[in-house]
Amino acid sequence: MLLVAIIGLVMTVVAVALAGRRVLWLYKLATSGQPAPERVEYARANLGAEIKAQLVEVFGQRKLLKWTASGTAHFFVMWAFFILITVYLEAYGVLIQGGITGTPDFHIPLVGTWAVLGFLQDFIAVAALLGLIAFAVIRVKNSPKKLGRKSRFSGSHLGGAWLVLFMIFNVIWTMFLFRGAAINTGNFPYRSGAFASEAAAAVLHPLGEGVNEVLEPVGLLLHIGVMLVFSVIVVNSKHLHIFTAPMNVAFSRRPDGNGPAQPMRSGGKVLDFEEADPETDVFGRGKIEDTTWKGFLDFYTCTECGRCQDQCPAWNTDKPLSPKMLILDQRDHAFKVAPYLMAGEQERAGLHEDVLALLEKPLVGEDGVIHPDVLWSCTNCGACVEQCPVDIEHIDHILDMRRYQVMIESSFPSEAGVMLKNLENKGNPWGMPESKRAEWVEELDFEVEIVDEKMPEDAEYLFWVGCAGALEDRAKKTTKAVAELLHIAGVKFAVLGPMEACTGDPARRLGMEFLFNMLAQQNIETLNEAGVKKIVATCPHCFNTLANEYPQLGGTYEVVHHTQLLAHLVDEGKLTPITPIEEKITYHDPCFLGRHNKVYAQPRDIMAKVPGVQTQEMHRCKERGFCCGAGGARMWMEERIGKRINTERVDEALTTDPDRVSTACPFCLVMLGDAINEKKNSGEAKETLEVVDVAQLLIKSVKGEPTPAP
Ligand code: SF4
Ligand code: SF4
Repeated sequence: MLLVAIIGLVMTVVAVALAGRRVLWLYKLATSGQPAPERVEYARANLGAEIKAQLVEVFGQRKLLKWTASGTAHFFVMWAFFILITVYLEAYGVLIQGGITGTPDFHIPLVGTWAVLGFLQDFIAVAALLGLIAFAVIRVKNSPKKLGRKSRFSGSHLGGAWLVLFMIFNVIWTMFLFRGAAINTGNFPYRSGAFASEAAAAVLHPLGEGVNEVLEPVGLLLHIGVMLVFSVIVVNSKHLHIFTAPMNVAFSRRPDGNGPAQPMRSGGKVLDFEEADPETDVFGRGKIEDTTWKGFLDFYTCTECGRCQDQCPAWNTDKPLSPKMLILDQRDHAFKVAPYLMAGEQERAGLHEDVLALLEKPLVGEDGVIHPDVLWSCTNCGACVEQCPVDIEHIDHILDMRRYQVMIESSFPSEAGVMLKNLENKGNPWGMPESKRAEWVEELDFEVEIVDEKMPEDAEYLFWVGCAGALEDRAKKTTKAVAELLHIAGVKFAVLGPMEACTGDPARRLGMEFLFNMLAQQNIETLNEAGVKKIVATCPHCFNTLANEYPQLGGTYEVVHHTQLLAHLVDEGKLTPITPIEEKITYHDPCFLGRHNKVYAQPRDIMAKVPGVQTQEMHRCKERGFCCGAGGARMWMEERIGKRINTERVDEALTTDPDRVSTACPFCLVMLGDAINEKKNSGEAKETLEVVDVAQLLIKSVKGEPTPAP
């Protein structure tokens, strides 16, 4: 046994040295990035939420379990990693005790002879084995060779994934070899419970005592050796996530990376545009070294599972953007230029010319790490962030790169320039005069108060109308419906009228943070001076900006979306839908209402209260809802590549054979309306099909207006 112990310990020292060297390298690379003190501060200040996230996301595997088959398989394999640590404790105990005393009958003190522990070890090993079979079947069925782009594994490193499955398989069979032989030699600590090890012992028993006495140390060394080789492979592969996922979850935003866009930071501090200097400050991300350590942690943690890619509307309509590849391409580039990133000023000049040549490659560009078509295809829909089981924050990466492109390089789709100019000069993306903002008020048969510097005393809510709601004909119908419903329910409200300017959302999502800041500060000043406390908004983009982003600049209000307020008023009996609307309606979840703000129930609750409405969910709904194509300032850009996203969404809606499509966002209304009109022209949709806001349905039913036959 002494020789076995020496071999085992030498193997361990070598593997720990190799793995440790790599871990140190990864640490140095990550910490060469920009500081992100807010991540640590947030985690510290929200310790309760962080612990919950570890329990739910890491140990409970909440997100993965939504994907039933692969999620269940992953659940067991992950827990095998934890529980089988006890088997390795035993293995090292046997190795060391055997080496010292010559009797390899070690057991863990106190619990090491419990049948329950023996059973648990065997059970999880068998479950992990079944998990491996499930993974193999899933990988074969979803092979990119078979499904091409439609495979979520398309672009992933497939060889590495198979190698890891093979290594886990080796961990399991060597465990049973070692334990089976130990039962036959009388060195096994569990008298019962270890059912699979007993089965292995039954298979090995006919070989005789002598053979089992040899197999026991051989199995032990193989079991330890496989784990050591596996550890070295893990820290050199995508399976690094075994160690980095809990860290990434701990330093991610809560509840996830959706909701507010992050302020621009330089050197860990929020950038003050009045003092910022593009020469010395970091403006977004123009080079890989501008990535924060949290960004590097995202790179290390990606499991290449492709769940983000599978849900991405851009990828699903044949655009070049895959959120997975966006992370992996940056990671691969960071690894290639790591010698530069980690070197001191003086060492850099002496680096190999291949590394120096790579530094010439721009982060974003035609020949860059990320192609501009990739960057500008993103609708900021948040599906990638929502799906990612390890809390990678793709939108933060995209926005940072867009910021550099827009503010430093002035390089962005030219058509969006008109929108920026209009925002700057007129305070709305269409460039309409501000006097037009209150025209819809005159079309109502009751009076709406317009704020004259101060909120009227009796007004409970400020109704934030938004640019589309005030200026776009289809969205104006929603605005009028909401105003009328509030009036009927007796909710006192006022509007800003010409004093309202765009919240700045399209500028911010495009990457023009400076303009966003300007508009946001102007609005916050107006709101604060007027003494606004509560806001109701119809546009989910305005809602998200007012509720989640204005607090970053000192504007804190109680903000609700109109569907939340209307659902509440219906519940309270202040609005009573009475007239039946006998229609089949499918609801489209706006991304900035659903995924970004988790409002899924209220629009559905409203429809459920309207008599006669038969709701029919689309295949992709709620958390997995499919974007309309307008977010991320895409509303203001041409869609030249692949299928139009709004057409794809309407195609899906048509599979439910609806009489109407409902939604709760003025941009979705326009995008889906346009696609429906195209479908009508081509005869693929019935002439009567239209898209409406849920408020329009509600007002019809509340007012008892006759519904035209579908
Ligand atoms: S936010 Fe939406 S469009 Fe952008 S990468 Fe993620 S899934 Fe794709
Ligand atoms: S980013 Fe997240 S969801 Fe996408 S492949 Fe990586 S781990 Fe999977």
